[in-house]
Amino acid sequence: APTVATRAVIHVITTPEALDSQGPGFLPGYGQIPTEQAARLAEGATIRQVALPADAVEPGYRPSAKLAEFVRCRDLTCRFPDCDRPAERCDIDHTVPYPAGPTHPSNLKCLCRFHHLLKTFHGWLDHQFPDGTVVWTSPTGTVESMH
Ligand SMILES: [Zn+2]
Repeated sequence: APTVATRAVIHVITTPEALDSQGPGFLPGYGQIPTEQAARLAEGATIRQVALPADAVEPGYRPSAKLAEFVRCRDLTCRFPDCDRPAERCDIDHTVPYPAGPTHPSNLKCLCRFHHLLKTFHGWLDHQFPDGTVVWTSPTGTVESMH
């Protein structure tokens, strides 16, 4: 019988230090994993560094693949308070709608479809600071800050 080789692909996000057993890793869809586990998963794995995007506004609404990857790695999850939907299953939202708001990391964040709709249609306001911090204001005026 023919055999089929399969290969698992696991994305783990770490700092370079974590690969030398000096910091935790983050497993999308699961959460933080201990240093030793991150280092063990890295053994024999393909390591790819995510580049910091150039500090320039990209033309157009849709972020480039590089910029989208950076935003997903920065955010890890949906940016709505307490939502842990993995970034790779989120939309990339322009906090200030394009074209008034630029296609730039300081104006982009991950939102799951549910929270994207909540923002668009249910009166939640979000304000994003240059470092990426997002402050949400609910329709009743409650303020929540979220890194
Ligand atoms: Zn969400």
